[in-house]
Amino acid sequence: MRPIPTLIVGGGPAGASAAIVLARAGATHVLVERSRETGDAICGGFLSWRTLESLARLGVEPSALGAARITRTRIIAGERVIEAALPRPALGVSRRTLDTVLLARAVAAGAAVERGVTVRSLEGTTASLDDGAALASDTLFLASGKHDVRGAARPAEARGDDPVLGLRIRLAAAPGLTRLIGDAVELHLFDRGYVGINLQEDNSANVCMAVHRSAMLAAGSPAALLDALAQQYPRLGERLAYRSGSEAIDAIANVPYGWRATHGVGGLFRLGDQAGVIPSLAGEGMGIAIASGLRAAHAFLGGGAAAAPRFQRDFARATRRPIALAGLVRDAAERPRVTLAALPLLSHIPRLIDTIASLTRIGHSPLDDSPR
Ligand SMILES: Cc1cc2nc3c(=O)[nH]c(=O)nc-3n(C[C@H](O)[C@H](O)[C@H](O)COP(=O)(O)OP(=O)(O)OC[C@H]3O[C@@H](n4cnc5c(N)ncnc54)[C@H](O)[C@@H]3O)c2cc1C
Repeated sequence: MRPIPTLIVGGGPAGASAAIVLARAGATHVLVERSRETGDAICGGFLSWRTLESLARLGVEPSALGAARITRTRIIAGERVIEAALPRPALGVSRRTLDTVLLARAVAAGAAVERGVTVRSLEGTTASLDDGAALASDTLFLASGKHDVRGAARPAEARGDDPVLGLRIRLAAAPGLTRLIGDAVELHLFDRGYVGINLQEDNSANVCMAVHRSAMLAAGSPAALLDALAQQYPRLGERLAYRSGSEAIDAIANVPYGWRATHGVGGLFRLGDQAGVIPSLAGEGMGIAIASGLRAAHAFLGGGAAAAPRFQRDFARATRRPIALAGLVRDAAERPRVTLAALPLLSHIPRLIDTIASLTRIGHSPLDDSPR
């Protein structure tokens, strides 16, 4: 058994953010990440203005990402299209770029990052690895994101009766596609799901979908679902016509939207998607992940392992409003009848979109900046 006083499991935005803060403070820790190379996680890549503020606290400036600028939201339901300015500019970036930049920043700050190390299960704060070794820690930052680790998995009920799948394809850059999408984040609504589209740093388009399993089963396969949606919704079809046919369709099952860890135990800090899962149409999951990394690491620096339960309670409180509101919006967005009734209202009160966009962001906390 290898003793590691402070262990971070997962090197996505949440784990990397915690590692940067701990490394800057000179706190000894190890971050283990199962992938050997940084991949392109299934994610829309929309970085909200609030997420950008958190990134700046970690020393990551937008220019380091070379990302596409996003200033508008465009909501498309059948023939109806409404547009509104975002409260503040956002960015579109691939996860490969973002995760690479964050982990590099952690290493530069002095973090010990071990790649190709997979935690198979947890017992308290002791981690068993898939090669049979064990890491004994006093404090564990669980940042495994979309993936549950045996012994600390989120409850199965959180997935709901008709679980949600995340799907993603990337469309290669093309001038016509750039003209269609421009500086907007698009939300295409359909029965039991939605598709988000925005451009990224290389002008490729990230097409990311959240869809209920029943809708997927009815279509037969992810590719068949995309074909069916492209036929049924001409504006979406216009964008999907840029597929070459050779794009991989990445998928993740059972996304527990709406789930939050409302209380914690000493020594275990749950971060990112392991702390709370906001519906992806809000474009704030990475913001919550990075804020959780900042706050958990600062809470630990101020109060040690014993600070975990209070951090978890406070973080659950901080994410209650954005997650609940995004859940209501998602429920409406996935029901064509509700959408058709609500869209005229949104177009007559443009400030409503702005207000919803603002209220689905995580608020500020003293723990964003320093230990408490
Ligand atoms: C369809 C979809 C679209 C989305 N679009 C957006 C968007 O546009 N904007 C936005 O802000 N958010 C979006 N999100 C949410 C966002 O992707 C997540 O909230 C965010 O990635 C959470 O970060 P994390 O660090 O908690 O987890 P992750 O990003 O999932 O990172 C977890 C890391 O832990 C590693 N890991 C996992 N298990 C183990 C293990 N057992 N041992 C070692 N390492 C492990 C993984 O390899 C990974 O690197 C979207 C989500 C979905 C599903």
